[in-house]
Order: sequence, then structure tokens, then C-alpha cells
Amino acid sequence: MPEKKIRVRFAPSPTGPLHIGGVRTALYNYLFAEKYGGKLILRIEDTDSQRFVPGAEEYIIESFRWLGIPFDEGPHQGGAYGPYRQSERKVVYKQYVDQLLEKGLAYIAFDTPEALDAKRFEIPNFQYDASTRMKMNNSLILSKEETDRRIASGQQYVVRIKIEPDRLIVVNDLIRGKVTVSSSILDDKVLYKSIDQLPTYHLANIVDDHLMEITHVIRGEEWLPSAPLHLTLYDYFGWKDTMPQFAHLPLLLKPEGNGKLSKRDGDRLGFPVFPLQWQDPKTGEISSGYREKGYLPEAVVNFLALLGWNPGDDREMMSLDELVDLFSLEKCSKSGAKFDYKKGIWFNHQYIQLKSDEEIAGLFLPILEEKLTTCQSNVVCNDQMLVKIVGLVKNRINFVQELWEQTSFFFVPPIAYDEKTVQKRWKEDTPAQLTELTAVLESVEDFTSKPTEDAVISWIETQGYHLGSVMNAFRLALVGESKGPHIFDITEVLGKEEVIRRIKRAVREIKI
Ligand code: GLU
Repeated sequence: MPEKKIRVRFAPSPTGPLHIGGVRTALYNYLFAEKYGGKLILRIEDTDSQRFVPGAEEYIIESFRWLGIPFDEGPHQGGAYGPYRQSERKVVYKQYVDQLLEKGLAYIAFDTPEALDAKRFEIPNFQYDASTRMKMNNSLILSKEETDRRIASGQQYVVRIKIEPDRLIVVNDLIRGKVTVSSSILDDKVLYKSIDQLPTYHLANIVDDHLMEITHVIRGEEWLPSAPLHLTLYDYFGWKDTMPQFAHLPLLLKPEGNGKLSKRDGDRLGFPVFPLQWQDPKTGEISSGYREKGYLPEAVVNFLALLGWNPGDDREMMSLDELVDLFSLEKCSKSGAKFDYKKGIWFNHQYIQLKSDEEIAGLFLPILEEKLTTCQSNVVCNDQMLVKIVGLVKNRINFVQELWEQTSFFFVPPIAYDEKTVQKRWKEDTPAQLTELTAVLESVEDFTSKPTEDAVISWIETQGYHLGSVMNAFRLALVGESKGPHIFDITEVLGKEEVIRRIKRAVREIKI
């Protein structure tokens, strides 16, 4: 148990819909915070105005609301460390940039984008660093007066960190262990831009983690290369003692296992890579989401939790509370996790089975109402009936939407009969047998499943009819094809009148 009060953050940039990998990152942060009685903060990293996408922040908040992952602090709910949108913290960052400039740990650079492009063209693998900075256009080679004059005259500039070469930087990652790199591979990253008076990601991220008293930075592996620079910044600011611990989560890989999971994999194989459906505000393009596809939030959470972590045994079904209980960063894997989307479907099937028939019926109702309006059915179906119907077929579905396909015949009597089934199941003596059957059913007083079944079976036996032939034709008359649950469960739901009506209609309509 860590001694300090745990504070972790999820820090997305609102550049579009939240990728499912980001959802996993937030989930692990949540599990970690909950486990140790800590706090989870949502911080919106919107300092890159070029990449800002309207609606993305709302999308992020709505995604976690749907998934049942609450934040303790954030732009939508406030908190003692706010504001939680970096664009609203502009004034905070400037003083830290000035601190580094005063200490000589950063410098002002006037190189234009064109000049930088020319350098990149001239020198292969050009990097703005100790080997090149003295040949560039910056305050290290200009006099203080000249630098001040340029700034005063309104020339745009950036502030770059001054990285000392040949130093060893050791990142102690809670998942990856010790990662050692030489500072010589780092470049003098831009920390601040005068043009929009905003810091870049690196500076804002470090300053905010410090000011928000973040104890652990749990984030995707793609941020591991930034860690040495971040450590250097902590060092330059003199914050090493309170520096958060790092944990870089394994990559989510394509279902086949090689390469990073992308939106294209989802399009190719037909699974969403976003929690909610998203419509691009510029192009209007729609990307599918787990919610709209019919996934239950519990299933998505359980599925994601196991992508890169396991409880140490082969347990698979775990509620959010159980996950909190079992979670640990030590059990996170170093190697990438294959995005086995079929497992996600399996989880959805399992969670549907765990829900009560009432709950699933409630989720199905809006879909049912829409379908019934489209096919202009005037069937009256009460809640109790619907719950019963759902209970009969629940174990056959992976998604609530599939319930219509499984149950439509309850609501819309067959008007056509599947030809193949007719050929196979409708014999010459079928009409006479089914007409007799209507009389048998008429006399059944308790029309629930078992008594009806007993009456029908005993009639078939007495008459010496072939059980299979009668039952298959009976099903065809009720359903219109050869599918569906136990036939006497169907008759119980449909009721005597409707069952007899359907048999009579089939006898009238089916010609062989
Ligand atoms: N804003 C970064 C992102 O979009 C945050 C990375 C971090 O967690 O440090 O993921």
C-alpha cells in the first residue's frame, strides 16, 4: 500500500472521439485509485488549438458516464485543483516557463518554420539539440538586448528546453522496470509558443501533474518515449522529490497480434474502436460505438480490464468492485495485448445472461416498439408477456438487438411459410392432424406449458401419430419456419385463441 494519498489522472487531448485504448487507460487509473482510496482526476489537455475538435470533451465525459466510471474531479464537476481544462490555465504556465529561462535551463528561439524545414533538408535526421543549437537563431547566440528587442518588436518565438547531452536518465517504470536512456537522444523540445501564448503538451503536463499533486502517472506505452524529457523537467524545476511514479501500459494490438490496433481494423472486422458512436463534425462521417452496437457497459469494462492485466488466475467474469479488489499494476503485462474482439462479444453474451429478464425486456422495448411501428403490427403485448418471451430466448443472443430476429413471430403472425420447411414438414395428412389438434387444444383448460404438452402428447400417442411430424408441422404453423424455443412455451405465451387461429390459417394457406 503506497503511503501517500493516491491521486491519479486521465488526461486526454480533445482531438476527436476517445479511442478504446484511452478508455482502458482511464479504467486502470480508476481501478488503481479506488483500490487505494485515492482520487481520479479528469484533465483536458487542450493546449494544441490546431487539433481541438468541438464536442470531443463532451464525448469523453458521456463515455465514462455510460461505462459507470466516475471521476472525483474534472471540468464537468470541479474540484480543489481546478480549472481542469489546460486552456483555462494559461496564466499558470507562463511563470514556470520564465523560471526555466531565468535558470538558463531553457532558451528563446526565433527560427521560423521555413528555416527549420531548410535545416531538415540540409542535414539528414536533423535534431535541434546540443550539436546544432549554436548554429540556430536563438537567445544562446544573440545578445540579451537583441533578444529583448525582437520580442518587444512582436517577433514570434518559442521557448525550448536546454537538454544537456551525455547524461543517463533512468525511468523507474512500475510495469517495465528500469528504462535507461542517454539524454543525447533527446532534442530541445518546444515548451511554449508566443503565438498563442500556450505551453506545449510536455510543459503543461508536468506542471499540472505537479500542481495537482499527482502521485502516479498511468498511461499508454506510446508516452514512454516522452518520459525521459518529463523526468528532466522535474529535475529542472527541482520537483524530483514529489515526482509521480510512472506506469506505462502495454499497447493494444490488432486481433491478429501484429501491429497497433487501429480504426481500420475495426472497419475491416466489424467491431467498434470507440465507446460511443461519433460523428465527425467536419466530414459528417460516422464511426460506430460499443454503446450503439448493443454492448452492455459492464461487458465492455470487464473485457477491457483483461487487455493487459489479469488477476493471476483464470477468472474472467469480474464486476467493477471485484476488479478494484484484484487490480494491481504489478500484474499488468509488459507485452502488447491482442484486441480479441470476439472475446468482447462473449462477455456481452455472459452479461446478458446475468441480467434479469425484466431488465433485458426494458432494453429491448424501444427496439420492439420501433419494429412494431414499421411493420404496422397491432399485436398487444403486455409487460409480463414480453418478460416471458425474453426469458425464453435470452440464452441465444449476444446483443439485445438480436432479440427481434429471435422473437418477431410472437408479435407478427406468419403470413408466409418457409418453403423448404413446408416441403420437408408438411405431409398429406398434416391438415387433418392439425385440425384435430385444434380440438385437443380447445379442450385444454390450463393453457400453461406443461398441461398443454401433456394433453397434446397423450393425443398423439392415442392416435398413433408420428410425434416428430405433428410437432414440426405445428411449429411451422406457429412460427412460419423451423426455429424458436420449446413449442409449448410458445403456445403458453401466444394463448389458446392465437394458437388456434394460426393453425387454422396454416391449414388454409399451405398448399403442397
Ligand atoms: N494528453 C495526453 C494524451 O492525449 C496525455 C498523456 C499522459 O497521460 O501523460 O494521451
